[in-house]
Amino acid sequence: MNAPKEPSFRESVDLMFNRAVALMDLPPGLEEKIRVCNATYTVRFGVRLRGQIHTFTGYRSVHSEHMEPVKGGIRFAMGVNQDEVEALAALMTYKCALVEAPFGGSKGGLRIDPREWDAHELEQITRRFAYELAKRDLIHPSQNVPAPDMGTGEREMAWIADQYKRMNTTDINSRACVTGKPINAGGIQGRTEATGRGVQYALQEFFRHPEDIAKAGLSGSLDGKRVIVQGLGNVGYHAAKFLQEEDGCKVTAIIERDGGLMDEDGLDVEAIRNWIAKHGGVDGYPKGKFIRDGSKYLENECDILIPAALEGVINMSNAADIKAPLIIEAANGPVTAGADQILREKGCVIIPDMYANAGGVTVSYFEWVKNLSHIRFGRLGRRQEEARHQLIVDELHKLDEHLGEKWSMSPDFKQKYLRGAGELELVRSGLDDTMRAAYQSMRETWHSGENVDDLRTAAYLVSIGKVADSYRALGL
Ligand code: GLU
Repeated sequence: MNAPKEPSFRESVDLMFNRAVALMDLPPGLEEKIRVCNATYTVRFGVRLRGQIHTFTGYRSVHSEHMEPVKGGIRFAMGVNQDEVEALAALMTYKCALVEAPFGGSKGGLRIDPREWDAHELEQITRRFAYELAKRDLIHPSQNVPAPDMGTGEREMAWIADQYKRMNTTDINSRACVTGKPINAGGIQGRTEATGRGVQYALQEFFRHPEDIAKAGLSGSLDGKRVIVQGLGNVGYHAAKFLQEEDGCKVTAIIERDGGLMDEDGLDVEAIRNWIAKHGGVDGYPKGKFIRDGSKYLENECDILIPAALEGVINMSNAADIKAPLIIEAANGPVTAGADQILREKGCVIIPDMYANAGGVTVSYFEWVKNLSHIRFGRLGRRQEEARHQLIVDELHKLDEHLGEKWSMSPDFKQKYLRGAGELELVRSGLDDTMRAAYQSMRETWHSGENVDDLRTAAYLVSIGKVADSYRALGL
């Protein structure tokens, strides 16, 4: 007997989409219009490096333009291909709709191993790719706004922003052509941590609902929960760090490119991140049990599994062996459609990617608004807020003196209360609010009793509903 075939990433997203639309009553044709990718641009360009011309292949796919600009990261990886960018662009459409970021979905990729090139070479390659995209308005503040993804970060976004600026010298909004920039190039506080922070806020919200916790066969709070993280890149690192330092979770295994580390007593996320930065991998780290085939640790007993690296890591070959009762998809597409079915049948609860990793694009949205408004959040109101708080503190001081022994202000109350919110506090507040609201809309559908037995289908239903409403408003 032939083993069932694993669908491609894009087919996997389509299968999940189809499962949800089967429960909806969309007009004929609209379903197809929403599902398909509008356009994918492929570019091949040459850059003279190390004495010879190297040809690179890049893509920018636009999935849905029901809202513009369209939004989504640019990834630098050898595995980049058209199927992958199209799947990722589709996920961006659903993600933005779910968290109410007013964008359509897009994604880009460049087939390159960024570790093979030095910074100067990467700058030349990135600028050339940005030039090719900007020339066709595939980078543009009101049409298409990229962001970081795997293999890219602040540095690449700064090059892209500068390249766009050079080509559009009189565009006052040029900084809004890309998000995820460094602060000094128009970025926003909290963007780098945003996706990992969003994963933390998503879990915090999940654990506010005893009914949902029970569905995963868990109980209690996040405190003491055993967590396994796959991928200690920007997303996995921040998620694991915050859960460990602020919520009392125990990180019992970390899986990286070169192998996995396990320690039931808990691993030190910060120390391991530093080790990786110095040694290029987790091998040789003095604590925990190392194995070369780290993916085996995906199958360990734990409470929460966080795949935060590549797509398709939980697939039909290992899904049956996954023991985690709760999976939160910090990466895009880490669970294939086939694995999703196996896990659902086992009763595993999956907090889906389009919600779980939406923190990045949410804060990108704030950055884009900041760039268009040309002012930092909190700049106008902060001192005013502090002055008003000072009035209350002064009154409380009087009360304190008057009441003598009977009452006194808690020691750190004054300091905490007096501090007005700066940009970082406002960004975190906006992100937390977004993650709570999106979860609630998803769980309402999940518990609606209308054949929706998982959060992923619920997420698709909510977001497809929103995209369909936009299309209707456009007269389609
Ligand atoms: N690359 C991130 C994602 O997959 C962020 C996209 C953005 O900020 O536009 O969601």
